[in-house]
Amino acid sequence: MFLKRLEVIGFKSFADRIGIDFVPGVTAVVGPNGSGKSNVTDAIRWVLGEQSAKSLRGAKMEDVIFAGSDSRKPLNFAEVSLILDNEDERLPIPYNEVSVTRRVYRSGDSEYLLNKQQCRLKDITDLFLDSGLGKEAFSIISQGRVDEILNSRPDDRRSIFEEAAGVLKYKQRKKKAEHK
Ligand code: ATP
Ligand code: MG
Repeated sequence: MFLKRLEVIGFKSFADRIGIDFVPGVTAVVGPNGSGKSNVTDAIRWVLGEQSAKSLRGAKMEDVIFAGSDSRKPLNFAEVSLILDNEDERLPIPYNEVSVTRRVYRSGDSEYLLNKQQCRLKDITDLFLDSGLGKEAFSIISQGRVDEILNSRPDDRRSIFEEAAGVLKYKQRKKKAEHK
């Protein structure tokens, strides 16, 4: 499984529709401070279901929608799509290519799509659980997160290792079953 393409419109600083194609190997995003590098990883975490506005460096979820600039009006929605290569079927879904889309409107309405079909947030989180990719996955380490991991309580640190080892899924299922 690898990231093939990211498409963004109206998300944070990206007013115009942009597409980033990832090629096998290492991709480095460079640019001056404030040019939107971290917004790229925020977009990836957001499309994978991030629900915390704070962790996306905003106060409320609406803050991910392009807020306007001197020359442009604010937009009414933000949309991000992530296209993954799934030839190795690491994602348990019988498609060689998987696209995940999230859209949010200023009204607060939001939508999730899996291969362009509307779905629930849970379908997306379930799909990525254990894949090594996901909003909480150790595969995305943002500025300050290394310190956070080192300074975290043993219990929290343990869950990071549990996700890495792939046991988190079973723990979450067990917890759910116990609540029924
Ligand atoms: P650094 O090198 O300092 O880490 P960076 O390239 O990672 O910078 P980002 O944090 O990705 O930069 O981008 C910050 C920019 O995004 C700021 O200029 C901010 O105004 C802009 N921005 C964030 N949210 C929005 C929004 N909703 N609408 C318009 N612009 C936004
Ligand atoms: Mg940054």
